[in-house]
Amino acid sequence: MAAPRPNYIGRFAPSPTGPLHPGSLVAALASWLDARAHGGRWLVRIEDLDRPRCPAGSDSLILEQLSRCGLLPDEPPVWQSHREARYAAGLERLRASGWAFACACSRKQITQSLAASGHGSERHGELVYPGTCRAGLKGQTARAWRLLSSADPEGRQELSLHWQDRRLGAQQQNLSTEVGDFVLKRADGLWAYQLAVVIDDAEQGISDIVRGEDLADNTPRQMRLQQLLGLPLPRYLHTPLVMGADGQKLSKQNGATALDLRDPVAALSRAAAVLGLSLSGQSVAEQLDQGVKAWRELWARPE
Ligand code: GLU
Repeated sequence: MAAPRPNYIGRFAPSPTGPLHPGSLVAALASWLDARAHGGRWLVRIEDLDRPRCPAGSDSLILEQLSRCGLLPDEPPVWQSHREARYAAGLERLRASGWAFACACSRKQITQSLAASGHGSERHGELVYPGTCRAGLKGQTARAWRLLSSADPEGRQELSLHWQDRRLGAQQQNLSTEVGDFVLKRADGLWAYQLAVVIDDAEQGISDIVRGEDLADNTPRQMRLQQLLGLPLPRYLHTPLVMGADGQKLSKQNGATALDLRDPVAALSRAAAVLGLSLSGQSVAEQLDQGVKAWRELWARPE
C-alpha cells in the first residue's frame, strides 16, 4: 500500500487544438493514475489561450473523450481564457521587480542580430533571444514581454537550474544559454504558456505535475517563474511519448488520428502499455482499478 499524500493535487491540462489523440490519452491517464495512487485529487484545465489554434467544440469533445475513459475530474474544469486577469497581475509583479522587460524586436530582427553576432543559436526551432531590448526601449513600441534568463537582474550571471524528475532522474538546464530571455506575453497579445501554466498550477494547488516528456525542457522556465513569483515548486514526472511512424512524437502533423473510443477498454490498454502497464480488465472500471494498482507499484511506493 502506498503512503497516501493528503495534499496531492494533480491535473491534466490539454490544449484544445483538436480532439485527444492516443498520445494525449497517455498523459491524461498517467496524471489520473498518479493522483489516484496517492489518494489525491485530479483536475482538468483547458489551456485555450492560443485561441486561433483552438477550433470551437474541441474542449467539450476532449471532456467527453475523458469521460468515456472513466477519467472524471474532481472539480469542474477551468478554462485559461477566463483567467487572463491573473496572468496580467503576474506579469505586473515581474515587471515591478525588474525581471520582466518589454521587447520591440520582430522575429526577423532577432534572426539578423544573431547572424551578425556569429553565435546565434536556435533550439527546437526557437531562437535564443540575444538580449537586444534588455537595456530598455529607445522610443520603439513594445511588442512582447520577456523574462530575464540570468541569475541577477543586471543580466550578468548565467543561471543554471537543477531538478529531480521522478522518472527521468536528475535534470539540469542552463536557462541563459539554452533558452534565453523567454516570452511571457506575445507580440500578438496572447499570454505565453509558461506564465499561464505556472500561475494556474499554483492557484489550483497542484502538488504533482505528470505530463508528456516533450514538455520536460519547459520545466526550468516554469521553475524560474515559480521562484520569482514566490510560488511553491511542484514535483514532476514526465511520461514516455507515443511515437509516430516517422519516429517523431505523435502529433497531428505526422498522422495522429483522433482516439477511437468505440472501444475505450482497448484504448486504455494501449495507453497503459506506453506507460509500461499491462491491463486486461473487461470494463473501463476494471481497467482503471488494475491501472492504479500497477501504477502504485511503479511510482507510488512508500518513501
Ligand atoms: N497544454 C499543454 C499541452 O497540451 C500541456 C501543459 C502542461 O501539462 O504543462 O501540451
